Formats: sequence, C-alpha cells, structure tokens
Amino acid sequence: MTALILVVDDVPANVKLLEAKLVGEYYDVITAKDGFEAITQAKKHKPDLILLDVMMPGMDGFTACRKLKEDIEVSHIPVVMVTALNEISDRVNGLEAGADDFITKPINDTALFARVRSLVRIKVLLDELRLREKTGLQMGVLGENENIFASDVSGSHVLVIDDDVVQANRIEETLKENYRVTLVTEVEHAKEEVAKHAPTLDLVIVSTQLMDSDGLRLASQIKNFEELRHVPIVMMVDEDDTPLMLKGLELGINDYLIVPVDTNEMKARVKTQIRRKKYQEALKESYQASVSMAITDQLTGLYNRHYLNAHLQNMVNQAMANRKPLSAMMLDLDHFKSVNDTYGHDVGDEVLVQLSLLIASSTRSADTAARHGGEEFIVLMPETDVVAAYEISERMRTKIEAYPFAISHADKIIHKTISIGFATLKLDGDSAHDLLKRADVALYDAKNSGRNKVLPSLEQIAASQSPSGRMVASGGSRSHPPEDTGF
Ligand code: GH3
Ligand code: MG
Ligand code: MG
Repeated sequence: MTALILVVDDVPANVKLLEAKLVGEYYDVITAKDGFEAITQAKKHKPDLILLDVMMPGMDGFTACRKLKEDIEVSHIPVVMVTALNEISDRVNGLEAGADDFITKPINDTALFARVRSLVRIKVLLDELRLREKTGLQMGVLGENENIFASDVSGSHVLVIDDDVVQANRIEETLKENYRVTLVTEVEHAKEEVAKHAPTLDLVIVSTQLMDSDGLRLASQIKNFEELRHVPIVMMVDEDDTPLMLKGLELGINDYLIVPVDTNEMKARVKTQIRRKKYQEALKESYQASVSMAITDQLTGLYNRHYLNAHLQNMVNQAMANRKPLSAMMLDLDHFKSVNDTYGHDVGDEVLVQLSLLIASSTRSADTAARHGGEEFIVLMPETDVVAAYEISERMRTKIEAYPFAISHADKIIHKTISIGFATLKLDGDSAHDLLKRADVALYDAKNSGRNKVLPSLEQIAASQSPSGRMVASGGSRSHPPEDTGF
C-alpha cells in the first residue's frame, strides 16, 4: 500500500536518511525542517503519516504534535515521534501530545516499516470515512463535526486479558481511574468473556506472555471477531521480544505495551487508541445519518422522490423475475391550495405531515410510501394485484375523508379529501416509467371526474377486457367502484 509520508527533522542528513529508506520501500516523501513547516506541509499535502523529530529549534516536536492534533483538518493523521532519547518521560510526553508512537534513533528499519504499514492502514480507512462524511457536508445534510480526536473518552470499556494476577491488578488499578475495566485472568475463558462484552468494548489488552497459551494467537483471533472489527487490540510484549511485537503489528494488532508496563505510557496509548476508535465511530454514524437524510423527505419523513425512483426500478425487476404482481398508487390532496390560501403555508405543512402519517400507517411494511413532490404521494405495493390495490386505495381514501386534520394554532380541525389513481405492472412487458405514467393518468381522471375518488388505469382495464383474460373481479358496491370501467 503506497502512502505519502511527511518527514520532519532539523538535521538535513537525518531527513535524507529517512527519505532514502522510505523511498526505497516505494513511499512518497515530503519533508519539513521544523515544527512550523511541518504544520504548513501537513495542511497543504494531507500526508498519510508524519515522522516527527522531537528536538528541533523554534517549535519542538511535542508542540508541533499538539498543534497538529488540535487542528480538525489534520488531527486524524497519525504521528510517530522520532527521537534520540529513549527516556520513558519523553515517550509519555509525546504520547500525551497525541503522537501514535515513538521510534528511537538509530532507526531500526524493520520496526519503522512495521509501524508505518500499520498506521497507514488505519489512515486509509479513516480517509474513506472522511470522504463519505464530506459528501454529507456538501449535500448540506450534516453540520461540521467538532474535533472528536480531542474528545474525552473517560468511561470507555477496556477488557484486559492477563494471567499474571499481580500485573493484571496493577493495570486494572491504573485504568480504573478513567475507564470501566473488565479483568480476565483465567485465559481459558477469555474468548467467552470477550464475546459476552463485545457490544460495549472500546479496547482489548492481551498479554503475549501467558502461561499456557499463545497470547499473540489469542490476540489475533480476537482481532478477527466480527463484532470486534473496529475495537482496537493492544498487546503486551516483553522488552526484548521485538520480533513478536513486529509480528503482532503485521497481524493487525493496533498497538503494544512493553512489559514491565509503564503506567503513564499505558494511559497515553490506551487513550490514543480509544480516541481513534470513537472518531471512526462518529464518522460512520454521521455517514449513516447523511445517507438516511439523502433519501428522506425533510418535511414528512417519508422517502423522497429520488429514493422512490431507484427503489421502484428494483421492485419492478423483482416482480418481473418472480412473476408477482406489483401495484403503484398515486395520490394527491384535493384543493390543497385552499388550505394554504386560508390558513397559511405553515398550516399547509402541518396538514401534509398528518397526511403522511395516515399514509404510512395505512400501508404494510413491505410497501414503500414516498412523497413524490408537493402534495402528491406514491405508494408502491408488492404482491398486490389490481383488486387488492383497489381495496387498499379505497380504504385509504375513506380513512382520510373521515380524518380530523388538526390546525394547532387555531385550535381547529378541518376535513380534506384525496384522489387516487393506481396501476398494476404488466408482467408481459412493462417499465417502471410506464407504470407510474398509468397511475398518473388514472389520478388525473379521478380529479377530472369529481375528486375524492379512486380510479384504476382505464387504459389497463380496457386492455384486460380482451379475450386473453380479465384482470379484475367485481369491485362490489363501494362508494366509487370503477364499474364504469368494466370491473
Ligand atoms: P387539486 O385538487 O387539483 O389537486 O387542487 P390543489 O389545490 O391541491 O392543487 P394545485 O396543484 O393547484 O396546488 C397545489 C398546492 O400545494 C400549491 C402549492 O403551494 C402547495 N404545496 C406544494 N408543496 C407544499 C408544501 O410543501 N407545503 C405547503 N404548505 N404547500 C405546498
Ligand atoms: Mg533534532
Ligand atoms: Mg392537489
């Protein structure tokens, strides 16, 4: 997976060295010589990863990292601190500034590339989510998000798997200050426990130094649990076991803690991992919200015309393939304009909302009700032949005729009626467009023949009178049976 990496260091020789290593692995590299330039470059090029030197004149790495993480435009870009010092306090300072990891000079190539690959993988996923969110923003259906990366994650749920009871208790004590902690010291029950808590988990920490089992295997099995796909996994590894740590990162384990665990470093890494997870979740939620807003009519909450057209085509295809009837009902309020004229547009809106609720509550769950525009609605009814469609339409018409529409500000009720035209798909060659067209013509006929009535597609009824077969049984003696159409 190729990626753009920003290398920041005040010593040109260091920049050259890192650049050469990364280019050798086919990464694209841009560079900066101090914290200020790092921020400018990051905002301009949106790299996939930043390798940030700590000791630099002017603005040092810690400050630059903090500033990057405060900026919503670039806060999601992973940062790895590069330092000559291997002091725990420096590691913690860096992690607290929001860095994702530390690499010490002289740089071990394998460690560098393992880190780069694993962080780039996460970044690519985040980018996709951010892109979808941006579409939502462009469509005007979403507000700008606050910087979730800097959000408070206390109260998150962390599960720790470690059979070293002393160490496990110490970890629990530390994490308990900020998080809800579930401790699993009996490793044979680890998978059950994880499955049980899966819905609420925000992070899993697994020791790779278990007495009787392979901790890394366990960690990677947990990583592959479907319900935990987005839950970060952190492994605890022995100080000297770099190969195991690298293997873990290759397997997709998100981060590691060196044993003996430094509590501050643990706190910092845990926080970073949980923040990333929450960020990912928030992006996903806002994407889902944008999708549902894009297909929903804002006023009534019914599907909009755009969705209806796409869905109608699918329903037509399905009906044709299964040789099952499909009917479409088009309905329109009678003399709606007079509501607006008499009471104002807001009352008109109120009536439309109440009408939509009536329509939605009169349809089955397999039906699709949509606002086609203005005061016109469409209901698609799968597995509904012309007789059933007539009955459903007629029931809808009488229900609305009887309904007291409330006008809230005037403490008043009014009565309205609707006209309905409907048509049924011809299984021997028909199209979504023609089906709606016939329903529309039927609606027009219903309006012209007096309103407050239900009419089928006259053209279709006439065609069905041919010797090849009658479509419809008698319509009975309802208020407006289409008997004049040969039912
Ligand atoms: P008909 O019986 O022939 O259908 O008469 P009508 O008055 O219902 O139909 P017409 O097409 O003359 O007018 C439709 C009105 O619906 C005009 C338009 O302002 C109003 N309208 C369309 N969309 C909305 C809306 O979202 N809110 C409100 N309040 N009115 C709307
Ligand atoms: Mg330096
Ligand atoms: Mg109307």
